[in-house]
Amino acid sequence: MIDRDAPVFVAGHRGLVGSAILRRLEADGFSDLRTAGREELDLRDQSAVDAWFDAERPRHVFLVAGTVGGILANSTRPAEFLYDNLMIHGTVVHASHRVGVEKLLYLGSSCIYPRHAEQPITEEALLGGPLEPTNEGYALAKIAGIKLCETYRRQYGCDFISAMPTNLYGPGDNFDLEGGHVLPALMRRFHEAREASAGTVAVWGTGAPRREFLHVDDLADACVFLMDHYSDAGHVNVGTGVDGTIRELAEAVRDLVHPDAAIEFDTSKPDGMPRKVLDVSKLTALGWQASIPLEEGLAGTYAWYRQALADGTVRH
Ligand code: GDP
Repeated sequence: MIDRDAPVFVAGHRGLVGSAILRRLEADGFSDLRTAGREELDLRDQSAVDAWFDAERPRHVFLVAGTVGGILANSTRPAEFLYDNLMIHGTVVHASHRVGVEKLLYLGSSCIYPRHAEQPITEEALLGGPLEPTNEGYALAKIAGIKLCETYRRQYGCDFISAMPTNLYGPGDNFDLEGGHVLPALMRRFHEAREASAGTVAVWGTGAPRREFLHVDDLADACVFLMDHYSDAGHVNVGTGVDGTIRELAEAVRDLVHPDAAIEFDTSKPDGMPRKVLDVSKLTALGWQASIPLEEGLAGTYAWYRQALADGTVRH
């Protein structure tokens, strides 16, 4: 178990994942949480990151910061996704080594795996074939992050571990229609259609791709579990092991938000990877599994979204 009284840095605390990890750590009695907003610290800048680490001296780090987005943002801004993430992973891993951080958890993504990886995808599928082109820049940066943790462990003996989550959702998500991921985008589109009494809602692509969705509170729980119980070089998949089609997801969101609406597929938009579901047997064998069913997670996220709209705090 990592020390609940040690200084812990959550890099990326305003994002979907970082905010969930902060909530989880607070609930778990961590007493010395350190954060740095974008305006205060540019994580792409090694000297700024070094100065921040010298001043704050964290003992544990959750590296969950990054430039993230959905299929359109990834495919139209590949340079930003590659550069920002390469730099952020490099600066934080290096600074953590330099000040002697005892344990770091690095968060990757299931898009690191080859487009034609065998499904469900095991950890061993990494670098076994070409990547999905719509998120290649992001995936390359994420693979570099895994290799940073592995090489700092091998060369310097750092206890840096990596977790690869599947598609995430939950409170604090980005509800931007162009830049965000499918689940919040559909929730917002059905919500706005209901408000406008509109009968049809657009869903990108063919509806045929299969995706797995993990609630971000489950992910945060898995991250703390791995920090407490895992100290090895190999990355660990984090997911539910269960997937469904985008059509099924759209129908579930429709039934929750605007049951009268009809779904219209916009096939001018890309499908991306045909299927993405993780083999989670390594994490299950370590003793962790997801506990929030999709239906319950959708309802909770929609309640959060409506409250955030009322409060004016939703990210659009
Ligand atoms: P991906 O797993 O990297 O492809 O992440 P996304 O969440 O961006 O997309 C997942 C799937 O949902 C893709 O097949 C998209 O084409 C599909 N999709 C359907 N409607 C939307 C939408 O409004 N926004 C996004 N981002 N994806 C959508």
